[in-house]
Amino acid sequence: KSGFVAIVGRPNVGKSTLMNHVIGQKIAIMSDKPQTTRNKIHGVYTQESSQIVFLDTPGIHKRTSKLGDYMNQVALNTLNEVEAVLFLVDVAAGFGGGDRFVIEQLKQVKTPVILVMNKIDQVRPDEVPAMIQQYNAMHEFAAIVPISALQGNNVDRLLQVLHGYL
Ligand code: GDP
Ligand code: MG
Repeated sequence: KSGFVAIVGRPNVGKSTLMNHVIGQKIAIMSDKPQTTRNKIHGVYTQESSQIVFLDTPGIHKRTSKLGDYMNQVALNTLNEVEAVLFLVDVAAGFGGGDRFVIEQLKQVKTPVILVMNKIDQVRPDEVPAMIQQYNAMHEFAAIVPISALQGNNVDRLLQVLHGYL
């Protein structure tokens, strides 16, 4: 099994941290260099039976200009071409306008979107069900997976869910 997975989410939600955990420090740091190419490859996750190519999609999280509009369209095209989209949110920061903008964009995409509730180590466990309900009401996500990218909690579960879409 193999496939492409795009990662979206506003700055600081933990995209790089997740990639560091999944793929290893070196590659994620390399891919943080500014690039002008369409898609940055975050890294490639390889196992005996599977390979996942993680793509960054710059331009999806804000629109500031005509160039921004163009970038957005490029990003949307990418999202329609991958097997699954990981939409990361920061549950410690709470839901914000930046997240709402991304969800609006994702409504135009037919690819399955997996909501990743990151920084779960920062909230009380009993707060999580209500948060999941709140996100479910906003969009029809293919799956919702709470994780801590920093501590690595539940990241194996996320990879398992991803494999179902390859
Ligand atoms: P990006 O901009 O989406 O790539 O976000 P980064 O991966 O650079 O993370 C932004 C900040 O959030 C960093 O200080 C990370 O250490 C922190 N962070 C990322 N994931 C977690 C997490 O699961 N828990 C906590 N407590 N902090 C996290
Ligand atoms: Mg980053």
